[in-house]
Amino acid sequence: MNKRKNSLALVLAFVAHICSLSMNAQDLISNPVTNAIRQNANYPSCGSFEFIEKADHNQGHFKHFSNQLMEDISQIVSNKSESRAEGDNYSIPTVFHIVYNDESENIPDSVILNQLNILNECFRRQNANASETRTVFLDLVGDARIEFRLAEQDPSGMPTSGITRTSSPIEHFGGLLPYAPGENAEIVQWINDSLFYNYFRLTETSLGGQDAWDTERYLNIWIGDLRIFEPQFNNFEELVYFGLATPPIDHVNWPDSVIGQANDFEQGVLMHYANIGSNNPNLLAAPYTGFNGVTTTGKMLVHEVGHYLGLRHIWGDGNCNFDDFIDDTPNSVSESSWNCNFNLNSCLDNIGDEDLPNMVENYMDYSSGDCQNSFTIGQADLMRAVLEEYRPLVYEAIPASNGILKANASIKCYPNPSSGLLNIDFGQQQKEVEIRIQNSLGQIVINEAFKNMQVANLNLNLPSGLYFLVAEGDSGQKTVKKLVLEQN
Ligand SMILES: [Zn+2]
Repeated sequence: MNKRKNSLALVLAFVAHICSLSMNAQDLISNPVTNAIRQNANYPSCGSFEFIEKADHNQGHFKHFSNQLMEDISQIVSNKSESRAEGDNYSIPTVFHIVYNDESENIPDSVILNQLNILNECFRRQNANASETRTVFLDLVGDARIEFRLAEQDPSGMPTSGITRTSSPIEHFGGLLPYAPGENAEIVQWINDSLFYNYFRLTETSLGGQDAWDTERYLNIWIGDLRIFEPQFNNFEELVYFGLATPPIDHVNWPDSVIGQANDFEQGVLMHYANIGSNNPNLLAAPYTGFNGVTTTGKMLVHEVGHYLGLRHIWGDGNCNFDDFIDDTPNSVSESSWNCNFNLNSCLDNIGDEDLPNMVENYMDYSSGDCQNSFTIGQADLMRAVLEEYRPLVYEAIPASNGILKANASIKCYPNPSSGLLNIDFGQQQKEVEIRIQNSLGQIVINEAFKNMQVANLNLNLPSGLYFLVAEGDSGQKTVKKLVLEQN
């Protein structure tokens, strides 16, 4: 770097420093709920751990039993003798419930498909930035072999796109804050009494949301506006959480009172609509614009689904003495500050005789989505064990070793006729398939490759008419299907 560039960089760094200071001062004034929850970290976050702490109105029973479940599952993982590199892929039928008040929140199918691809890439370690994992972690990271596909059938057995759309009269699913500046004790009480119930209106049709699909058989992901409206704070719209997920529960060993508290909340994931996908046309509004490109990379849902499958934050939601119940993730004193700081090593924590730095590249940190690229093998083992022990009906095991598309294979395309969204079921897990869509003149209008999946999802943003789908396996075997497209 020459001198002139160097001094320019210094000026830019100074300006950035001033900007971040003034943003922090602004946040202190205008985020009353965030401030009441986390006085030392006054910015939005994921709500999953705070849900565990507050779902029982801050009494601590839910957290106690959730921690016990984590102890139990980590014991099950460590007792397992089978090789971590073997076993089936686990495929989870997933439904996205889009609940919108204005049309911009009714995000298009293309964003859902983009998000689904990111989810699959990250859980199969096929994300483009997997190559950026630092060398010290390369022996620890792995392929979780968990996949997500849009549900093919709704709970009544009818064909579905796996996406529901519900128009709602509710503008802010965080609710309306009935308190004014200075009423801090009342705000804390409101958080304990009301906040999570407000969010979970998303999961009830009668409350302005959309009823869950059988949560034992589908991963339900609700998408809506998670902000809180605050009339007495200049009509501020506060985003406390980018998203949150319910942790697994133990129906066998937990007392009925705690199961009852858990049952107040549908199992699944709630997400703020602007944090879905990396191609979302919506940006986060002020004062949260600094999170555009940070939490809007599609990795936020990877993080939340990690929670749904039992993972805790990588820093253990406490200082060096708190662990995430997983041996191969280095401890750290706190979360990253939604950035990519690779210079931190905040706790002495020997893993394989080496004191590893903070693992900023882990999906379960609060780092920028740009530098998140890994689950550890310990995390992958724990998620798979949670599926086996606590969510046994929600996944289908698919042998990982097969996957050669036979010539003229009986693949299924549905719905057909389609209005754009198309599911292609190859009948079994495929290693690699190229899909070409040709129009009636034989011109190729879509060409996409899919890896390690049984069901591929395509968005056919094309004029209505007759098309041909050509699926080609990795050694040239071809299958052709006729498609009819009827755009709305
Ligand atoms: Zn989280």
